[in-house]
Amino acid sequence: MTSDDFGSARLSPRDDLKLSPVDLLRRLRSRGAGDPVTHVERVPARAGVPAPWPPWAPTELRAAFARRGVVAPWQHQAEAATLAYEGGHVVVATGTASGKSLAYQLPAIATLLSDPRATVLYLAPTKALAADQLRAVAELELEGVRPACYDGDTPRAEREWIRRHSRFVLTNPDMLHHGILPGHAQWSGFLRRLAYVVVDECHTYRGVFGSHVAHVLRRLRRQCARFGAAPVFVLASATSGDPATAAGRLTGLPVTAVTEDASPRGGVTFALWEPPLLPPESGSSSPVPPQATGDHDDLHQVRRSALRETADLLADTVAEGVRTLAFVRSRKGAEVVAANARRALDDAVPGLGDRVAAYRGGYLREERRELERALLHGDLLGLASTNALELGVDLVGLDAVLICGYPGTRASLWQQAGRAGRSGQEALAVLVARDDPLDTYLVHHPEAIFGAPVEATVLDPANPYVLAPQLACAAVEAPLTPADLTLFGDGAKEAVDELVAAGALRQRPTGWYWRHRERPEVDLRGQGGAPVCVVESATGRLLGTVDGGSSHFLLHPGAVYLHQGISYVVDDLDLVDGCALVHAEEPDWSTHARDVTDLSVVSVRSYVDAGPVGMFLGEVDVTSQVVSYQRRRIATGEVIDTRPLDLPTRELRTVAVWFTLSPQSLTSAGVQTPDVPGALHAAEHAAIGLLPLMATCDRWDIGGLSTALHPDTEAPTVFVYDGHPGGAGFAERAYGTASAWLRATRDAIAECGCETGCPSCVQSPKCGNGNNPLSKPDAIRVLDVVLANLPA
Ligand SMILES: [Zn+2]
Ligand SMILES: [Zn+2]
Repeated sequence: MTSDDFGSARLSPRDDLKLSPVDLLRRLRSRGAGDPVTHVERVPARAGVPAPWPPWAPTELRAAFARRGVVAPWQHQAEAATLAYEGGHVVVATGTASGKSLAYQLPAIATLLSDPRATVLYLAPTKALAADQLRAVAELELEGVRPACYDGDTPRAEREWIRRHSRFVLTNPDMLHHGILPGHAQWSGFLRRLAYVVVDECHTYRGVFGSHVAHVLRRLRRQCARFGAAPVFVLASATSGDPATAAGRLTGLPVTAVTEDASPRGGVTFALWEPPLLPPESGSSSPVPPQATGDHDDLHQVRRSALRETADLLADTVAEGVRTLAFVRSRKGAEVVAANARRALDDAVPGLGDRVAAYRGGYLREERRELERALLHGDLLGLASTNALELGVDLVGLDAVLICGYPGTRASLWQQAGRAGRSGQEALAVLVARDDPLDTYLVHHPEAIFGAPVEATVLDPANPYVLAPQLACAAVEAPLTPADLTLFGDGAKEAVDELVAAGALRQRPTGWYWRHRERPEVDLRGQGGAPVCVVESATGRLLGTVDGGSSHFLLHPGAVYLHQGISYVVDDLDLVDGCALVHAEEPDWSTHARDVTDLSVVSVRSYVDAGPVGMFLGEVDVTSQVVSYQRRRIATGEVIDTRPLDLPTRELRTVAVWFTLSPQSLTSAGVQTPDVPGALHAAEHAAIGLLPLMATCDRWDIGGLSTALHPDTEAPTVFVYDGHPGGAGFAERAYGTASAWLRATRDAIAECGCETGCPSCVQSPKCGNGNNPLSKPDAIRVLDVVLANLPA
């Protein structure tokens, strides 16, 4: 047993398994016609590099870890722990099950033991993770640490005890924002003595949410400073590009990164798998209602679906007696994969299907442990799961992991693949590509997966739509001073001036004061306006919320809305009250909203003049209106009708990246004038699809617009913008990596095996124009012109 076992259910090696991953893969790929495997990477086994306990680690703490089976730390744990213990801010960014928790537990608890007054604050993105960590710390059974969770579920009666007596408080950024910071007076004793702030899973703080959390942490630092404390930040991140910069942006502090993973790892044979193109006539016979899964769009299916392919692979591995975990993006998708695999197994050997189950988030802890137990004992051989596992059950050491569709980030990909293999035993991982430009690119460009990490965790604390409300919250907690403007960073002065002009703050000689009686209402996770509630008319039951930005698309009258796999139809969308009334109904069509978008350039922040090509970053105003929706048969994709909608226009001021080309350069490249709109449109779709390669966003975070002549640029132009007010850092990152981003876009289109464009290359599931016009060959020409001129 090693130190990375903390809290994980580690499957024991199986002597009965004789099939090597290479042989298993050979069997899987020889099933159909043609070879779906585009690449096989052998990720070698790695021996762990243990380090001695740091000399400062108290004996009783070493003994406590030893009781939990940790005889010595790994090199990276010891290195990060010592950096933190010596007062440096540190981020440890290593793989799944590499024991990141020990890296912060060691310095934090050592300090609690040596200084009886010190306190520690631990932040997790979810309550479940905080609860797991609480258990791990409590199981060390150390006198005087008194760890406790403090979140929305904590009974009132216990809260005061925790504030006064706990020295290791585990919470989440929302509670820090809504509860602890506004109540700082009651927390003064705790904050005054705060030695460490632990930010776990810090790569999840990205985009607008991440920008909010960045300011919550600055508010925390400010309150600590008022009480004379300057805590050390220890952050834990999944593997990502440039973790030191991301952690620095998140905390506003200089942070050292520890990235060399010294924990042992079993060897993994990692295959990239591209489902075959289907013959054209069978193109629409999808067995899975695409809309119902969220994994797929209703465009003509050109490739065999990743869900079907994954279900077949799961059935095949289980039939070989291989313990397999299949990761599927949506809950419904996981159920479909499990059901199909069960059916295939039962057809082969009646009863064998019982060895496969579906797992979804929301299970009780006991149910999760039961599933773990069944897998441990081999009663269960196959499990299809959403990524709930990432933050719920901790299960490592499987014989095979199937990943149905690129999970969006390399961090998630490795987190999922990391469930396979254990010390001393080889395992298999398979990434099954969906028909999506990014997936297609990745299975043909293994270097983007196995080479140096490219994508970074992106956030933008200077976003004025985040900064102003956060400064308002800070002002309520204590009047703002000029020194605070430095703390909150770029744009803080402008935001304060605007709050003064709006009458929210008043300037006095001693600082800026909040003028209102009530606190400002700021939701860290709210994006693009107040969320809209989805209510079942008959029962009044609240099904969930949809963020304001997507509500017109998803909840217009007549929309088919899916919630946890159940289908509802929207009767009414009340924009004033922010609520949609729905009833349960399962029609045999899906609905697809269309919008018209207009965009104007407000200002240019930066640009590159590259002869016939211009590349720009700046602010834009986007006006959009959802004007109609189509109803389409689920089984065939056939359009039943298009119905008009009467919804107001919406305005979004945000950040965009755009490029222009001279008409002459397009003509010389062979793009005929009538084909220019289709060429730009196709390039825009693919560029949006590939941006997640550069920054951790998904295509729903970004929008685009292309036109053969834009009034502000007076040229053929492609815009890609952040879909959140004020921007979230994605367009900025795209601008910063423009040539790499557009090179990948060009290659993804050129390498797709289709003839005229498909969902794997230039079609987009969220196109407002029904994917029309699109010209695949001309899109390649457009991007060639851009790349030929743009400096690398
Ligand atoms: Zn294609
Ligand atoms: Zn489009």
